Amino acid sequence: METVNPYYPQLFTPLKVGSLTLPNRLMMGSIHTGLEHRPDGMGRLAAFYAERAAGGVALIATGGFSPNKAGNLTTARVEMSTEEDARNHEVIPRAVHEAGGRIVLQVLHSGRYGYHPDIVAPSAVRSPINRDEPHALSVDEIEQTIENYACSAELAKSAGYDGVEIMGSEGYLITEFLSLRTNHRDDEWGGDFDNRMRFVVEVLRRVRARMGGNFLIVFRISALDLVEGGLTGAETRRLAQSAEAAGADMLTTGVGWHEARIPTIAQAAPPAGFVWATENIKGAVSIPVAASNRINSPEIAEAIVAEGRADIVMMARPFLADEKFANKARAGDRKAINICIACNQACLDHYFEGRVCSCLVNPRAGFETKLPVVQTQVAKRIAVVGGGPGGLSCAVAAAERGHSVVLFEASDCLGGQFNLAQVVPGKAVFADSIAYFADQLDRHGVAVRLNTRVTADSLRREDFDNVVLATGVTPRAPDIPGLDHPSVARYDDVLAGRRDVGANVVIIGAGGIGFDVAMYLLEGGDRSYAEPAAFAKSWGIDMTLSNAGGLQSKGRPRPVPARNITMLKRSAGRFGSTLGKTTGWVHKSVVDVNGVECLAGVVYERIDENGIHILVDEGRRCIPADTIILCAGQDPRRDLEGPMTGLGHTVHLIGGACEASELDAKRAILEGLETAIGFNEAG
Ligand code: NAP
Ligand code: SF4
Repeated sequence: METVNPYYPQLFTPLKVGSLTLPNRLMMGSIHTGLEHRPDGMGRLAAFYAERAAGGVALIATGGFSPNKAGNLTTARVEMSTEEDARNHEVIPRAVHEAGGRIVLQVLHSGRYGYHPDIVAPSAVRSPINRDEPHALSVDEIEQTIENYACSAELAKSAGYDGVEIMGSEGYLITEFLSLRTNHRDDEWGGDFDNRMRFVVEVLRRVRARMGGNFLIVFRISALDLVEGGLTGAETRRLAQSAEAAGADMLTTGVGWHEARIPTIAQAAPPAGFVWATENIKGAVSIPVAASNRINSPEIAEAIVAEGRADIVMMARPFLADEKFANKARAGDRKAINICIACNQACLDHYFEGRVCSCLVNPRAGFETKLPVVQTQVAKRIAVVGGGPGGLSCAVAAAERGHSVVLFEASDCLGGQFNLAQVVPGKAVFADSIAYFADQLDRHGVAVRLNTRVTADSLRREDFDNVVLATGVTPRAPDIPGLDHPSVARYDDVLAGRRDVGANVVIIGAGGIGFDVAMYLLEGGDRSYAEPAAFAKSWGIDMTLSNAGGLQSKGRPRPVPARNITMLKRSAGRFGSTLGKTTGWVHKSVVDVNGVECLAGVVYERIDENGIHILVDEGRRCIPADTIILCAGQDPRRDLEGPMTGLGHTVHLIGGACEASELDAKRAILEGLETAIGFNEAG
């Protein structure tokens, strides 16, 4: 019998779920990886999940697989509906079991959220995030769909899965039956709440009847809908009880329909910010309940279980960021955990762009078979110049492979642009990434030389085999007359606290950094967004759960902005459209609610003591400003390249030093890893 874990005692206490006893309270929640429909997808998924199972997570839920054609998320077929599907899947549970883990197949019917011509729903009510109106299911089609769920479960079992997770949150088909927002039926499948629950209850009953007692049935319940017409807290509790009575072994939770206009997993949402909604369910049932959303560290997870707020903690993205999360926590090696920074940039944004889901801080995720970090046969001396995300990633991976690495950083600290980002609301967690990489440098024996500005000559004297220039970027100075006026400030000086900022601000540029600066200034140093209650208040969430959907009846309150801000850009088009698909709308929403004026199609004329003079559609304007902040993009900093190649050195440029436009940490970290993997063994 295992002794009490000295580091996270509650997290590493076994949990009985149905007929299984899980070794700990960590579950990897479902995430669509974009591999599900690819020809090589099953093998890659097997490797992906097996690494996580070997990393110690107790239970995994796959990405969603539809029980029938109508339930697919897109035109790509991602189903568990035929014998052939089951045979194709066998490799996944086998690999997970061999790695010592357990895995359930998520059965997800997209309902009106599918992006294909055959979408269905309880009623023909179009979703605000889908152009197409769904076909309203007939009674016969409802019966057929329930049968499809049961068949899917049977096929999952025959493929070797330990169970299924029936997806009933986030606004998909099951939630659509439950909510008056989407269920306008007047037959036995609509109307009062018992009728609206009938669909999911029948699904769960049918699956249980078909599968018997030794097959795990997890029901993912919407703890909080966050849409008008959604469920109240009392209805959610009744639903939880009905699901238990119908045969569910465990309830996992989801928060917010996809069409909700409140962030639930973005950086704007506070850590563990929705566990209070899970507690509403936990008190109503006797089966285990999982908490989810914005939980990214073992200490947060431990506290949730220790305080009895949930029985198990379900995280998805943190297991992308670190497949060994659970084992490292068990060993008390917290520093070695690569923490998810909730950016969505390489996971959800990739999925919605039709790309394979990966992770900004761990680009190997989803590419386990394509980016192997193997020991080198020929150890080399490698110089990495620049201690930002790209340089850190490269130095760690190269040293992990057995190379001898020296990392040079001109400033007195590691982290580069991540240091600036830390002050932006929701981005304090970037400090964890820097700490992680710094610790890895240490473990892999990288020699770190801070406060060292190298030259081509100094590098040559040390006779490195390879030099990696990860020297990053320098803020672009736009060509506007009057740029030397005292009101003008660079964004890095503002974020670093080197410049005072007045009450009337103009931001030039509306890319990621323009918005970051706006968030920083609007917050005005108030960190209360990090508290669930303050977050709920500011986004109009009803924490008493008495109102439908958990929304305040008066809507979202308008804050008193900390500053009067105007954002400008030269291009036409929507503000925020160049930001991440799953996060840009959050930034734009904060900017809007704070009354920020956003002007596109601007021509900059000059800056003087009156402010900034521009030409826009309505003609010439002067916008008075105490501070005009330049967020006009970046230029690459690669002055070492010429001298180094001139001396005959092999130079690798990565990250912003290579290409500053559309620079982001995701590309820099990936390029760092790829460069380290690709060092030519022969010299
Ligand atoms: P960016 O996204 O390329 O935006 C630069 C902005 O400056 C644009 O709005 C552009 O708009 C304007 N601009 C460009 N050249 C200009 C010039 N010569 N004069 C005046 N305005 C000019 O760059 P960034 O904001 O510096 O961000 C750098 C990278 O970090 C981006 O790739 C970004 O995605 C990433 N980042 C991401 C996030 C995030 O939340 N995901 C946060 C921070 C940074 P016009 O050309 O229309 O004027
Ligand atoms: Fe987390 Fe960002 Fe990685 Fe997604 S890409 S798992 S949000 S760190």
